[in-house]
Amino acid sequence: MLNTKRMSIVPTMRCTLRCKLCSNHVTEFKKPIDATVEEMIRDIDILFELFDKIEWLQFVGGEIFLHKGMAEVYDHCKVHRGKFSKLILESNATILPREAEITSLRKYGQDAKVMISDYGMFSSKSDEFIRILESNEIPYVVKKYHDDDQHYGGWIDNTSCRDYGESDSMVATKAARCPQVLLENMHCFRGKLHRCSNSLFMSELKLFVPNDRDYVDLLDKSQSDNMKRDIIKDFYIYPRKSCHFCSWKDADSLPRYPAAEQI
Ligand code: SF4
Repeated sequence: MLNTKRMSIVPTMRCTLRCKLCSNHVTEFKKPIDATVEEMIRDIDILFELFDKIEWLQFVGGEIFLHKGMAEVYDHCKVHRGKFSKLILESNATILPREAEITSLRKYGQDAKVMISDYGMFSSKSDEFIRILESNEIPYVVKKYHDDDQHYGGWIDNTSCRDYGESDSMVATKAARCPQVLLENMHCFRGKLHRCSNSLFMSELKLFVPNDRDYVDLLDKSQSDNMKRDIIKDFYIYPRKSCHFCSWKDADSLPRYPAAEQI
């Protein structure tokens, strides 16, 4: 059996905001790109061949509502309906959902949920966004990231992205407690499956060359499904190259900053 708690599909590296401390480093991409609808559907089909169960099938950017093809992707996910519990969309509420997206999400009833990161004045469509969700009975939660009492106390600064020079055993001890590990928050973009967002985004930024078995190339025909499953089963057993470059492993003790300060 192969299960995970979270599987985040990344439709786009583009975003409507330029947050100084963006946890996914999207402001660092000189030419941020999208996954095509065909690539996402292909990846999702392969993932559900490999996995028996995914708790939350998530869509995370960038800002996912910039991508105009998502309704087709959400519709397609229904093919795998018995293998995931919830369809989760993350948004900064700067773009309103399209009619086709609303129609698709309504078909999931209570099993679709929109997670709104509310950045105050920057989440300029927040009120209208929520009104649309409520009138269509689409579940949502709002994470408050403005003024006082910000969600989780605000953001950490993970923008240095350099090898901190810590020993392998130190990184292993710290990374075992990383929130991304505890959530089993895998991320997939254009055929590559990583154990976490930082492994994916830092690798895409080419900050380092990932080690063998740091990610799974879903399209690699030289590896059997069982070989790919074995790599995935190891994802949280030991840290990856990215963990040496990442401050998330110290998340419990790092200072918090106001979210979404713009560059
Ligand atoms: S410490 Fe490692 S597992 Fe945690 S977010 Fe960073 S790269 Fe991912």
